[in-house]
Amino acid sequence: MPKRILIVEDEPAIADTLVYALADAGFEPVHAELARTAIARLKSEAFSLAIFDVGLPDGDGFDLCRELRRFSDLPVIFLTARGDEIDRIVGLEIGADDYVTKPFSPREVVARVRVILRRQSPAMFAENASSGRETIPFELDGDSGRIRYRDRLLELTRYEFLLLKLLIEHPERIFSREQLLEQVWSDPAEVFDRTVDTHIKTLRAKLRAVDPTSDPIRTHRGLGYSLDTGCSS
Ligand code: CA
Repeated sequence: MPKRILIVEDEPAIADTLVYALADAGFEPVHAELARTAIARLKSEAFSLAIFDVGLPDGDGFDLCRELRRFSDLPVIFLTARGDEIDRIVGLEIGADDYVTKPFSPREVVARVRVILRRQSPAMFAENASSGRETIPFELDGDSGRIRYRDRLLELTRYEFLLLKLLIEHPERIFSREQLLEQVWSDPAEVFDRTVDTHIKTLRAKLRAVDPTSDPIRTHRGLGYSLDTGCSS
């Protein structure tokens, strides 16, 4: 049975793109243009995940998510306007699982949908999984600005610390370069084209110095980086 994904988006071009990409990836996309249609369907039909545009003709995606959370913990991805940081923060605070900034590539959305659904299903086998998977080998002390990795204190620069902290706080979540730049680098003047990649590279080297056998920072080609928590192998 293909997994049903509800797309709530009033712009036909964007909705069509998502419907096509999700169907192509083996999902069963269902499209609603209005918040009230969406909520009716969410109450009466089974879905595996929902994608909410923030700006809808009869309300906003946040209210829709708040209403959904009263009766369901269905995973939600928000589609937010470019550069609107408030949207992203509010979205995550009210229980969204992820957000995608417009304009986006359909491939990125499909990848994020897959990651969230994959994250969901292993939870059902948590007992099994925990025996084979190591718990996350990082210890974060946000107050002192220190991170320990496999019981060794890491010597990190300010941005390496902020970058690794963000990844540790959201294990397995894929952050695009743009998202990392926005969330970690406060001063755009310090940012260059390869800033994120350069810091990831130095971070990896420092982690490898502690444990040469594992590389917990994963590169997702075309998407970004995530922190792998199943890095026991
Ligand atoms: Ca809209």
